[in-house]
Amino acid sequence: MIKLQKIIDKNFHDPEYARTVANMKRILEKWILDASFQDAWHRNPEQALKETGLDPDPEAVKLLVDPDEGERIQRAAREGRLKLEDLPESYVLYKAFIREKLDSREEQRAKLCVPDEPCFRAWRARQERRCWLDLGPSATAMVQAALMFELSEGCSVGCPFCGVAAKGLRGIFRYTEEHALLWRDILRRLHALIGDAAGHGTCYYSCEGFDNPDYEKFLADYFAEFGVVPQTTTAASTRNIARTKALLQYGRENYLHIDRFSVLSPAMRDTIFESFSPEELLLVELLPQFPEAPACHMTIAGRNRSEDEEEVGSTIACASGFVVNMQEMSVRLMTPFVSDRAHPTGEWIPEKASFSTAEDLEATIRRMISRYMPECLDLNRLCAASCDFRLEEKEEKVWAHGHGMGIALMDAPVAQEALDRLMTMLREREYTGNDLLSALPEETDICSVILLLENLWEHGLIDQTEG
Ligand code: SF4
Repeated sequence: MIKLQKIIDKNFHDPEYARTVANMKRILEKWILDASFQDAWHRNPEQALKETGLDPDPEAVKLLVDPDEGERIQRAAREGRLKLEDLPESYVLYKAFIREKLDSREEQRAKLCVPDEPCFRAWRARQERRCWLDLGPSATAMVQAALMFELSEGCSVGCPFCGVAAKGLRGIFRYTEEHALLWRDILRRLHALIGDAAGHGTCYYSCEGFDNPDYEKFLADYFAEFGVVPQTTTAASTRNIARTKALLQYGRENYLHIDRFSVLSPAMRDTIFESFSPEELLLVELLPQFPEAPACHMTIAGRNRSEDEEEVGSTIACASGFVVNMQEMSVRLMTPFVSDRAHPTGEWIPEKASFSTAEDLEATIRRMISRYMPECLDLNRLCAASCDFRLEEKEEKVWAHGHGMGIALMDAPVAQEALDRLMTMLREREYTGNDLLSALPEETDICSVILLLENLWEHGLIDQTEG
């Protein structure tokens, strides 16, 4: 009987279980990061696995790396021809860990990152729906963090694929006595304003956490305020191995969570594998970001998007909320967007403002909430399309189609001619809701269109920001 356990759980203390999952994870990492391992496997699977020194169950590995095998057992499971006990234990444990990570991310999105502040909460929910429509299934992976911090300005790494096109490192917010007081004051105020969701963001965004020599001191204050050690995604994991290990250890001792290393080259991959044991990286995801990696994935956005590209790309942004840059003393309201000419970095930033004190930052965020996050649609104000979508009347329903997917918005029929007129005027960004209603063909049922506008607004598809 296979007994499953939760690994991202403070009550988990089973070194053998951890070793089994960590070794399987390392084999899969070799698979996605190292073409020569895949070649060796294709030549002689048993020998390739033996050379890893990890002693994995070859049958379990086969089920994970061979798509035909994976499909075969999934079909058998769907048809009720397979029991858990029929599968290799290490395969089942590894799959359970993947499920746990997905569940944990979903908990972040659906619960932990939801702000208490009601207008902010409703705005974030609207942006989330818009992202589904505009970005498709990839949007379900976004936690939509409410608050993120940057502890330096710019980034020293300079990845050629940087999805947010971070500029070079221009300044670092050091942990001086004065800065520490400001930092703690800001954490306290934004915790009170936003709620616990304020503590489920990160202390990096368009920058590299390890660029700041005091990164860990800021994290300690963050932990003291929220009881959470925030996730770190770093492209500098091998810059100072002892420092990286200490950060991982701090997370394991205080607040279990998943960190991520961007792997930028074959040399970096090899250093990571040599320097960190599989168990040390059990809670760290390795992101293949160099062309030679079999599973290299780079989002079309930022520096990885050509300026004259007509193509609509995606985004690496995962916050619908505020990004506070402590070094620049700035705050920007941000939400993910497809990367296009107007939003090359896949971010929609309605406003960026400066602040001088913690009190000033709080007031600025309150002002942005009241300006950009109205409680309900106001037909007396501007109604503009917030992104590129179209409306279609099909099977007595009105559909909105974005770049990602289509959503049936309502049952009541509205003629295509009225929808086309509405869409043209929404795109022109010049008309109030009442202007739109009065310009519709005579026979249009106005009540249905008002309902449609409200549905569009609930899906974040109408922007009421003037000026
Ligand atoms: S991807 Fe991250 S580490 Fe690389 S340049 Fe951009 S912000 Fe810096």
